Amino acid sequence: MPESISVILEKQDIFFQTHITRDIRFRINQLKKLKQALIENEQVVYEALWKDLRKSEAEVYSSELGLFYNEVSLHIRKLHIWTKGKRIFTPLICFPSSSRVQNIPFGRVLIIGAFNFPLQLSLIPLVGAISAGNTAILKPSEQSPETSKVLAKIINKTFSEEFVHVIEGDVEVNKKLLHEKWDMIFFTGSPRVGRIVMEAASKNLTPVILELGGKNPALVDENCNLKIAAKRVAWGKFYNVGQSCVAIDYLLIHENIKDKFLEEVKKNINLFFTEDPEKSSNYMRIVNNASVQRIKGYIDSGTVYFGGMINADDKYISPTVLVNVSTDSPVMQDEIFGPVLPVVTYSDFNKAIGLINKKEKPLVSYLYSSDKKKQKQFLGQVSSGDVCINDSVMHFVNHKLPFGGIGNSGMGSGYHGKYTFEAFSHKRSVLKTTTAFDLPLRYPPYKKWALQIIKFLLK
Ligand code: NAD
Repeated sequence: MPESISVILEKQDIFFQTHITRDIRFRINQLKKLKQALIENEQVVYEALWKDLRKSEAEVYSSELGLFYNEVSLHIRKLHIWTKGKRIFTPLICFPSSSRVQNIPFGRVLIIGAFNFPLQLSLIPLVGAISAGNTAILKPSEQSPETSKVLAKIINKTFSEEFVHVIEGDVEVNKKLLHEKWDMIFFTGSPRVGRIVMEAASKNLTPVILELGGKNPALVDENCNLKIAAKRVAWGKFYNVGQSCVAIDYLLIHENIKDKFLEEVKKNINLFFTEDPEKSSNYMRIVNNASVQRIKGYIDSGTVYFGGMINADDKYISPTVLVNVSTDSPVMQDEIFGPVLPVVTYSDFNKAIGLINKKEKPLVSYLYSSDKKKQKQFLGQVSSGDVCINDSVMHFVNHKLPFGGIGNSGMGSGYHGKYTFEAFSHKRSVLKTTTAFDLPLRYPPYKKWALQIIKFLLK
């Protein structure tokens, strides 16, 4: 019989108070154990992701396992440097002191994962939790049950529950988890559930990091490398069957190049997934039937230019491109999170930017343009978590870039690489001073000359 959440949390509390997790050697050893556990279980990971999402081995490696290995190896290599903290300049007003910023763990953290990259969205935050010296409970998404099972098996065998533990379950389990008091919550998922998480966290003033989603625009300028842009758009939209937080949600394209561009998109879809994507081992499936029905509903929002085939029994929706889409149609309201690409044309670049800015701030905005002035304008006028120019998705892969949203698409902190370590650390200021002497300036009764010196030092 599994132990109750509160019992495990109590054990994690006691373990954290032993201060073992403060030890850098301990953290590095745990990260090595985690990496080794995944190496030993790669085959079951491939099988689980095939069952959950029909993800091919190549894509499991490039978008899940590989990203995890890259992250954990970096933390193992760099942790001793990151944990050193930083010596900071001390102004004269604090003389004679020294100042530094130290990264300290929050304590007991809760990590809640999403279904679409069920392995890396659980494991990369877990790497951060461990490297920053926290204890952790991980709740993978119940919508990818096989991967959830595999994660629970691997992690619960590798670590004692007083340190790191996986709790599987559905919304009800998540509600119970959110009812507990945490020192930090890292949530990946929809803005709707993000609000629920934040509300629960607010009861205990628990800090949250919310990695959410939204409608990511792709703005295609008349002046772009059309062939490459179309190829990257086709890839960035239909990778993971569009079930990706960084997927292109909708296309805003200059009316003069629309026809030629869409021809290229179509050509590339056929090249990537063949003329019958249902038979291609590189084309994934929608997570469940409810999502198939939801995405199917969007197809009526425009004229099918390409695709539109559905096999609900197989959770299959073919790569679909919609034209004649009105900006107030349903497909232009919510995050699509599936393989349907609505195409809206524009003739005025400024108005296209205005259209993006009328919506909630996206996780990422894409621009395909060779015009440096337009690139500058886009960077200066569009508000989004991240920007990717002339490419799709690849900003996510650069672990030197913090990945995260703004407003409706997320808050708290970006992560990946060193930023993951920082996301799970509290930045503590430390000022240390001498008692060898004690300057009288600050103490009452205040002297006129002392105030003048303070005024000079603080001007
Ligand atoms: P979701 O919000 O439905 O579920 C995420 C987690 O929340 C799951 O573990 C689930 O069990 C839990 N949950 C669901 N309903 C709940 C409720 N009522 N109360 C408490 N917990 C609840 O998200 P999803 O369908 O797994 O993922 C898709 C969404 O996640 C999209 O919006 C996507 O853009 C976003 N996403 C964001 C990122 C990112 O890094 N920014 C990455 C992947 C996905």
